[in-house]
Amino acid sequence: MDFLRELARRARPFAERDMAELREFARARLGIADVQAWDVSYASEHLRQQRYAFSEQEVKQYFPEDKVLPGMFKLVETLYGLRVNPSSAPVWHEDARFFDILDGEQLVGQFYLDLYARNSKRGGAWMDDAITRRRTRSGIQTPVAYLNCNFASPVGGRPALFTHDEVITLFHEFGHGLHHLLTEVEDLAVSGINGVEWDAVELPSQFMENFCWEWEVLQGMTRHADTGETLPCALFDKMLAAKNFQSGLQILRQIEFSLFDMRLHCDFDPNGSKSVQQLLDEVRGEVAVLIPPAFNRFQNSFSHIFAGGYAAGYYSYKWAEVLSADAYSLFEENGVLNLAAGLCFRDEILAVGGSRDAMQSFVAFRGREPTIDALLRHSGLLEESGAD
Ligand SMILES: [Zn+2]
Repeated sequence: MDFLRELARRARPFAERDMAELREFARARLGIADVQAWDVSYASEHLRQQRYAFSEQEVKQYFPEDKVLPGMFKLVETLYGLRVNPSSAPVWHEDARFFDILDGEQLVGQFYLDLYARNSKRGGAWMDDAITRRRTRSGIQTPVAYLNCNFASPVGGRPALFTHDEVITLFHEFGHGLHHLLTEVEDLAVSGINGVEWDAVELPSQFMENFCWEWEVLQGMTRHADTGETLPCALFDKMLAAKNFQSGLQILRQIEFSLFDMRLHCDFDPNGSKSVQQLLDEVRGEVAVLIPPAFNRFQNSFSHIFAGGYAAGYYSYKWAEVLSADAYSLFEENGVLNLAAGLCFRDEILAVGGSRDAMQSFVAFRGREPTIDALLRHSGLLEESGAD
């Protein structure tokens, strides 16, 4: 609760600025004199398009699969001192591929990669474990992961093209995969992602996403589908500028959901005099910049917390970002491709799985407990200081 309230305090001036900009834009350009809750998405999309004139389609031309995939593999090889090699195994569909991860001559893990959408395939993107590392009577069992996405498949004999969001998704799932595959634990219940606390399990996946915003990494993963050119710096700058569009408003919205969820589970009495609506109104009164209309019943469809496994856990989205941003800040300090930092992350975070407390692992890696500074900086929520 302290964490959420502190984050709300820091985000609030930015959210108020976001809202003031939106009101002014809607008044001057869209003829909306008084922006209502139901105008916000519409007006925001117009403002975004006007301010950062580029399209996902334009960016997509620069991310062909045959540059992105080798680029991602090269990144983890550089960071963790590994090799990723194509391998073979029986597969369920011709699009599915199989890879080995080698440390020197030692096989440490293997994974299936099934990238494309097709009929009958579950939607979304996910990592799942096929085999988990553990000691058996016949020796150590090598872990195997499934990595699944639903990207558009190649057409016309050309490689598949990914949007930048899809590249981020791929890195995210690969981060989960590495958590599962690079474990050195030998007991099933705490090997890989098993037994890792709910609010730390997204650390390795969100950590990987940071590299998708790194020019040094990204540029080498691009080649325009027609011209063969790498991603222009000017376009990358626009993508970067658009990344934190309305981040103040977005963070406050997530904090509103998180505080409501947590208070519902820790200080709400269903038989008491206060209604769920009143509790939500209190939370909104405390943190929201944009108050929904009185007839809004958001709480009735907040399925994350009664059907999605996030009961008293919605905050973990934001908390895992604190961990991943702060972990990544060590790479920003030492160079984003720093091998020593990479090996330390591998040893202290990825290798240990659920065999020790996540906070101990974080401290072992970072040398201190996490702070919210890196997240604020990555989200554009620090006042300009003039430096870097
Ligand atoms: Zn995830």
